[in-house]
Amino acid sequence: MIRAEGLIKDYDGFRALDGVSFETEGAGIFGVIGHNGAGKTTLLKIMAGLMQPTAGELAINGIDVVRDPAALRATLGYLPEESRLYETMTVNGYLSFFGELYRLDPATIARRRERLLSSLRLDHGGKKIGELSKGMRRKVAIARSLLHDPSLLIYDEPTSGLDPMTSRYIIEYLGRLRDEEHRTILLSAHNLYQVEEICDRILILRKGREVAFGTMDELRSEFGTFSYHIRFTVPDSAPLAGALAFSRDAGEYVAEAVDMHELNAATACIAGAGGTVKHIESRYPSLEEMLLKIGK
Ligand code: ATP
Repeated sequence: MIRAEGLIKDYDGFRALDGVSFETEGAGIFGVIGHNGAGKTTLLKIMAGLMQPTAGELAINGIDVVRDPAALRATLGYLPEESRLYETMTVNGYLSFFGELYRLDPATIARRRERLLSSLRLDHGGKKIGELSKGMRRKVAIARSLLHDPSLLIYDEPTSGLDPMTSRYIIEYLGRLRDEEHRTILLSAHNLYQVEEICDRILILRKGREVAFGTMDELRSEFGTFSYHIRFTVPDSAPLAGALAFSRDAGEYVAEAVDMHELNAATACIAGAGGTVKHIESRYPSLEEMLLKIGK
């Protein structure tokens, strides 16, 4: 369970978080989104116990993170936005080194390291970190965050800078960590389609304030306006001008209607101009469209 109450963070007089409160129960993936500078990294660092809030309360799984951040460490895996890895160490050496820092015995380190390398499809254990691609380095950082078997993962932009295939693999991997291993994951991401796909609940931040927190369905009912997208063809679009707002798309036309009344009027208008309706799709706005609507 995570309970944040009135979290405030000031950096030299600049308020980066301005009273963020939310509460959630059980395992799952929680996404924190917002434009650049909205306060995502600041919130994740506070949640990971790496930074003290200026004011506010935060409890994670019964641990008072503000007063006792160290208590969280054993159960937490943190992935910073950019992780500095030791370039001259091999992947195996690096993971073993961190296993020792977590005071794991050599047999456990070897077992977990091999399991993580194989489940992350990282068959470069003997390679030096400095010789790895960006995607592989990200996977090493993820392996490191999981080595001590934490139940809570806080990942800042886990897929940033990765190619689409690696990025997809990481997202699916996080899904497995939730579904098969019942871990709680808190992540920030700029790829809103991924957030929409994988997160059970989403916190939207804007200028350090929370704009909304909820499931995709809850966010849609708060910010989304349902609409119909009408895809049609017409021999000559000129007669529609002034009567119907539409745009061209891949050799066809697309118009939008917000209710049945507008839908009927639009289809009548298209038929009147000798057009043919190809497809009507009912749709809710994506997270990206919602974020654009909320504004900077
Ligand atoms: P991005 O999407 O660009 O990573 P973010 O949502 O993670 O942004 P933060 O990094 O949390 O945002 O920053 C929030 C605000 O606090 C920004 O205006 C940033 O400039 C400011 N800020 C962050 N760290 C510091 C710092 N150490 N000192 C002063 N201001 C800071």
